[in-house]
Amino acid sequence: MAETGMDDALLDVLHEYWGYSEFRPLQQAAMTSVLEGRDSLVVLPTGGGKSLCYQAPALCMEGTAVVVSPLISLMKDQVDALRVCGISAACLNSSLDQEEARQVFRDLRAGKIKLLYVAPERLMLEGMLSMLAEIRLAYIVIDEAHCVSMWGHDFRPHYRELQELKNIFPQCGIHAYTATATEQVRSDIATQLGLQDLELLIGSFDRPNLTYSVARRADRFSQVCEVIDRHPEESGVIYCISRADVESLSESLNNAGYETRPYHAGLPDEERAANQEAFIQDQIDVIVATIAFGMGIDKPNVRYVIHAGLPKSLENYQQESGRAGRDGLEAECVLLYSEQDAMIWQRILEDQPDESKASSFESLQAMQNYCHAFDCRHRYLMRHFGQDLEQDCDTACDLCRGDFQQVDDALVIGQKILSSIYRQDQNYGASYTAAVLKGSKDKKVLTNGHDQLSTYGLLKGESLTTIRSWLNQLVTQGFLTKTAEYQQLRITKTGWQLLKGEATPQLMRTTQENKAEKSRRT
Ligand code: ADP
Repeated sequence: MAETGMDDALLDVLHEYWGYSEFRPLQQAAMTSVLEGRDSLVVLPTGGGKSLCYQAPALCMEGTAVVVSPLISLMKDQVDALRVCGISAACLNSSLDQEEARQVFRDLRAGKIKLLYVAPERLMLEGMLSMLAEIRLAYIVIDEAHCVSMWGHDFRPHYRELQELKNIFPQCGIHAYTATATEQVRSDIATQLGLQDLELLIGSFDRPNLTYSVARRADRFSQVCEVIDRHPEESGVIYCISRADVESLSESLNNAGYETRPYHAGLPDEERAANQEAFIQDQIDVIVATIAFGMGIDKPNVRYVIHAGLPKSLENYQQESGRAGRDGLEAECVLLYSEQDAMIWQRILEDQPDESKASSFESLQAMQNYCHAFDCRHRYLMRHFGQDLEQDCDTACDLCRGDFQQVDDALVIGQKILSSIYRQDQNYGASYTAAVLKGSKDKKVLTNGHDQLSTYGLLKGESLTTIRSWLNQLVTQGFLTKTAEYQQLRITKTGWQLLKGEATPQLMRTTQENKAEKSRRT
């Protein structure tokens, strides 16, 4: 097919089955690479329209396209949606009984199925592979392809087995799709899957319609209510780290007159599905959930996403917050964090295999750094994904809006903080160091004799929260590092330059802290 012929055929299909009249950015290129029989790796943010990229070409080609997908619920949603559009699609997973599975096999042999969704472990079974060798295979899609990489945030061992596909079906195009991949994950996906003559398509990660803000968690309940109250009768998602937090927050909100439902993997299947459905159908406005919620959910009118706890990586944050504003209209993403969250994650991540542990800790630190960034948050996120913005967002994040203000004497404050860390033999974490600088009568500080240090009480006019925040800002800016195990603060090479006055940090206060500070001085 000549190129324009291909485009026309694709546009016809888009129009006929989905009622769409144009491509979204990169969709056309992604679809063309499928039609040309090449391999591809497509990275588009959540809401970018990935599914269409690999579904539409199937209707312009002979044979069946196989889509590998990690979750049964995700497969079911997609198959249902395709059938509604009049496209013959089916899935093979553990939710089917034997007769249903046999029927799918019969339909496949008869060439009746255009798109087949299958779980990775199912695909790699011998019977399945030999059956696919018999039929006409159009191409293979690996959805959520970051699951193949240990560097990603959701490694799934079964995805590793997909390495064999290229050897088994060398003539068949393989197309990997993901919403989130750093450069390292990207090249790992390509290597693991043995992608050849690769069309690499990376969409813009910026979501200009989203407004980002970050706040330290003080009173979780009222901070959450504040956001909900800004969006009366609008849909919102509140993410918590643990199931217990989901339950308790949802209950407190309901007791206060809000109508919310919980969602986490510990709920009985029926209740979980009913709560999700009630949210999708706009019967309730707010869902309080763990990260189990959201994969593959396509609700366009989510107006806010609140993280009531720290996500474990920026990849997770980008994906979860990205569920807001899929319709392109303005939406708000609020992150409430506390240092304790990082410790909770650290304990959870400790149990991982050694080979992925180090990168998980790195991802967690990058997430913490985002909380203490002083750069436009849109830009910060983009840079993490190897992209950049031409200019700061101006009004779409708390930092550009000026919710934080730079302190004038950052060099002196930085020197006071680092001197204290040095005098404490670099053996303590942020909370302890803040207590020393504040001049706290904390028992541990007194027992260690640190009330005798010359730095004891040097920042006594500041709140502990502000001092802790500055400590973290110094970590983000590379003047300090934290040891992986006990989070002890260590002075870096640049930190020594700061002590000598050769490098200056940028330290921020929130506008509120700033007001309090000014009224103290007057
Ligand atoms: P992703 O998988 O990248 O998160 P989806 O494939 O779920 O995104 O698409 C997000 C939404 O955009 C869906 O409602 C989809 O139907 C819609 N969409 C995708 N492509 C187009 C298009 N070309 N024109 C209009 N709407 C589209």
